Amino acid sequence: MKREGLILILSAPSGAGKTSLCRELFKTFPDMKESVSYTTRTPRTGEVEGEAYHFVSHAEFERMIEEDAFAEWALVHGNMYGTALHTLEEARKNGIDLVLDIDCQGALRLKEQLDGGVYVFIMPPSMDELRRRLEHRSTDVQEVIERRIVRAAEEIRESRWYDYIIINDDFDVACRELAAIVIAHRRKTFRMMEKVGKLFDI
Ligand code: 5GP
Repeated sequence: MKREGLILILSAPSGAGKTSLCRELFKTFPDMKESVSYTTRTPRTGEVEGEAYHFVSHAEFERMIEEDAFAEWALVHGNMYGTALHTLEEARKNGIDLVLDIDCQGALRLKEQLDGGVYVFIMPPSMDELRRRLEHRSTDVQEVIERRIVRAAEEIRESRWYDYIIINDDFDVACRELAAIVIAHRRKTFRMMEKVGKLFDI
């Protein structure tokens, strides 16, 4: 019996610290893989095709929608983003634990279709702290920051249907909490039976 790969779906408003938490997660669990989405957004400086994203044209993205190539897709900040079905299928089949960093719309679409995904919402400790982080970290103009804050409030309302919520107040605590979720799901009986079978010949 082949172990079924874990599909971990992470969503967060921008400024909640998801990128840093993900980086720590991959340090803790180097065998986890990041799902590489397709997007119509133009690459930022230093972004390489096939690493963070597959960068495709609008026409190519539309063609993939028509061919039902996506498990989910969404329009985020004016660009299209999507997770290809084959990415999920390959990971599952090969017993690979996959991390999807996707927005709430895409996560909800996935939840309606996919069995067994684990949905984690990461939130800032307060709106004041979110504003402080966005103002501190970015070169964004005030108008963009205001837009991000309005969107964050909308996304936080979506958190109710996620399986887990992590409040990223203390970064180390948040890392431990995310790791605990991964460990718990890795220790589910159905994921352990392949190993138990090999160890004990049952
Ligand atoms: P960025 O362009 O800054 O890398 O990502 C912008 C937003 O798009 C983030 O909130 C990220 O979670 C979301 N995103 C990235 N890939 C996907 C995807 O495949 N599907 C969906 N629905 N959202 C995605």
